Amino acid sequence: MQVGFIGLGHMGAAMAANLLKAGHDITVFNRNPDKRRGLIDHGARAAARVADACTGDVVITMLADDAALGSVALGEGGIVSALRKGAIHLSMGTVSVELSRNLAKAHAEAGQRFVAAPVFGRPDVATAGKLFIVAAGEPGAIEPCRPLFAAMGQKTFQVGQDPSAANLIKLTGNFMIASVIEALGEGIALVGKAGVDPNTFVDILSTTLFQGPVYRTYGDLIAGRHFEPAGFAAPLGHKDIRLTLAAAESLRVPMPLASLLRDRFLRLLAEGGEALDWSAVGGLAARDAGSVAPATQAPPARLSA
Ligand code: NAP
Repeated sequence: MQVGFIGLGHMGAAMAANLLKAGHDITVFNRNPDKRRGLIDHGARAAARVADACTGDVVITMLADDAALGSVALGEGGIVSALRKGAIHLSMGTVSVELSRNLAKAHAEAGQRFVAAPVFGRPDVATAGKLFIVAAGEPGAIEPCRPLFAAMGQKTFQVGQDPSAANLIKLTGNFMIASVIEALGEGIALVGKAGVDPNTFVDILSTTLFQGPVYRTYGDLIAGRHFEPAGFAAPLGHKDIRLTLAAAESLRVPMPLASLLRDRFLRLLAEGGEALDWSAVGGLAARDAGSVAPATQAPPARLSA
């Protein structure tokens, strides 16, 4: 299949590589063009502009946030203005419910099709082609994407015709992961201060009552304080909690735990955690307990005019 791929960050580069391996004809675009290099060496075509990646049957976006996807899709020379009628925009990044709705509308008005298919799994999982994909959109638009999903993921869940439902599921899932990160962080801080080996604690819990990849993956990262390099950067985690709260506010759903997590992320970022993995939120409790040195003070933020 002829596919454009826009956004070659931690996740996108790995996903595009798997599409290439599966034999698809891939054209890649990235804001920083240097990140295209590895994929071009493996047979991808280079796009100099967003529009050059929009000439095929499908264009996939794996961009950081609403600002990135909004400008790439709706801005001048963007996807909506470049894609041919009937072609599909497959949005796989974690963006807001609101942007997903706006994109569905804009693509429909332009005679194009829009599918939201955000993913669960970190970059190592993306490299292994084992992502869990949550897809929503018209069945007639999802069907042609199935070979692409098969190349990138181990399982795809189809969750209805409204693309924004997939975004809401993804955001809510990330809220739940962040809650586990905070709980693990507090538990590890408690047993660690008492002199119990945090790895033993994680081993016991993640092989008995709390079996599942989230407890294992994040338990190990927090117990070992392995917060660098970031697989999923803290500002993106903060973004997901903000977007969860925005959806909750519009639906009038109080989420006190999400509000607390928003402040935990803010604290991590305020203390200079921008480049850390989001699991570093789970390292704050040990700092609060005086068990590890506080982070270096970040320079004071300035208000822009
Ligand atoms: P990343 O490594 O930070 O990559 C972000 C991508 O977005 C890069 O290609 C970046 O281009 C591009 N971008 C950022 N701002 C832009 C702008 N204003 N205009 C155009 N392009 C822009 O992020 P990632 O970890 O791959 O995550 C990508 C998406 O997947 C996010 O929505 C994230 O929440 C979601 N996600 C991540 C994970 C994970 O574990 N990492 C898992 C599931 C879902 P440059 O290279 O030029 O900066």
